[in-house]
Amino acid sequence: MTTQLQTKSPRDKWLSVKRGFMGKCPHCGEGRMFRAYLKVSDACPACGEELHHQRADDAPPYMTIFVVGHIIGAGILFMEERDFGVPDWVQGAGWAVITLILCLWLLPHMKGALIGLQWALRMHGFGGNEEAATLPASAPSLT
Ligand SMILES: [Zn+2]
Repeated sequence: MTTQLQTKSPRDKWLSVKRGFMGKCPHCGEGRMFRAYLKVSDACPACGEELHHQRADDAPPYMTIFVVGHIIGAGILFMEERDFGVPDWVQGAGWAVITLILCLWLLPHMKGALIGLQWALRMHGFGGNEEAATLPASAPSLT
């Protein structure tokens, strides 16, 4: 038995994630994925690949907080363990600013990587079967 997914060519997951992380189209790697800071283009300006199928939702902020939290937590513990003599108020203000900058920098990269993975896995209509992606399985047929 051959399913529709088995007849389609496989997509390189790591290449797609890498292209998405860099803010590029997961299909061609040339066109920009975002038309604004976190606004995804409806289609790739270079190859025309439809990108509006993405459903990143809350995953990029979750992944961003997870990564940045580990980096900042390790940094704070390192500074405390080595006792560089930095006043607490300087550390508090400094780590807050570093956390904010890291989160703002990493968030679009995480969103792009997730969209790249969704594209590689043909999720949410990226596989070409748009009707199946938009209608829940329990939806009544319109025909
Ligand atoms: Zn493209």
